[in-house]
Amino acid sequence: MFTLTNKIALVTGGGSGIGRAIARLFARQGAFVWIVDRDALAGRGEVDAIREEGGQADFAELDVSDAAAAAALALRLPPLDILVNNAGIGHVGSLLETAATDLDRLHAVNVRGPFNLCKAFVPGMLTRRRGSVINLASIGGVLAVRDRLAYTVTKHAVVGLTKALALDHSHTGVRFNAICPGRVETPFVRSRLAEYPDPEKAYREMASTQLNGRMAQPDEIAAAALYLAADVSAMVTGSNLLIDGGWSAGK
Ligand code: NAD
Repeated sequence: MFTLTNKIALVTGGGSGIGRAIARLFARQGAFVWIVDRDALAGRGEVDAIREEGGQADFAELDVSDAAAAAALALRLPPLDILVNNAGIGHVGSLLETAATDLDRLHAVNVRGPFNLCKAFVPGMLTRRRGSVINLASIGGVLAVRDRLAYTVTKHAVVGLTKALALDHSHTGVRFNAICPGRVETPFVRSRLAEYPDPEKAYREMASTQLNGRMAQPDEIAAAALYLAADVSAMVTGSNLLIDGGWSAGK
């Protein structure tokens, strides 16, 4: 039910963290995975790792905020079955610490990025009347996260983009869904924790927003992406899958 054999997937930000876990899992399930990242070293390294496991993958360097480059990439690649808009960036600050340029920078990657990739690749899916688009939003797409104004604004926009795409196009058979993780223990988060005098305490504080008291592992987000990518979720479109250890349930 969860096989991706003969499917072609593209994962933006596939060189690190959640994107890497998604790319690996998709390849293990039989997909050919295009890893797209602005970091060529990380992206190529991930392709090598997938090939070493016997999977199929290739790399394309792209800054997702560049609409023309995304359109050019779509001309070069085969039609996609699965598009995962995972690349995203963060910013710490309330209104007082957020400049308009910070908001623009996050918007360019977190919102125009998925929009650009959809503009480039969704028309091919619509023509073939099949495909699954998965946008990595965040808990910040459904709740405000304290001192993350620009991040909250842009991730709410990702949820809105997903719903608008689903409303306009789901009758074609192409599906659009968002995943909203809470805190995930990626290498970046781990390196940030290591900077604290007491990393264990910092972990507990960061994870305390989640009712189960721990961060998710990237593989737990990848499992949700696999569900949304595979035909088993054919009935699911326009949804917003929260994987937040209960964060959004209340406090
Ligand atoms: P990460 O920083 O570990 O990896 C992001 C990857 O995206 C990197 O390989 C980076 O090079 C690439 N990237 C960044 N900007 C890019 C651009 N403009 N063009 C192409 N590639 C670009 O991130 P992560 O923690 O794995 O997060 C992945 C996604 O999940 C993001 O959208 C993030 O907002 C979301 N998310 C993360 C968490 C978390 O706790 N880690 C929680 C909720 C949502």
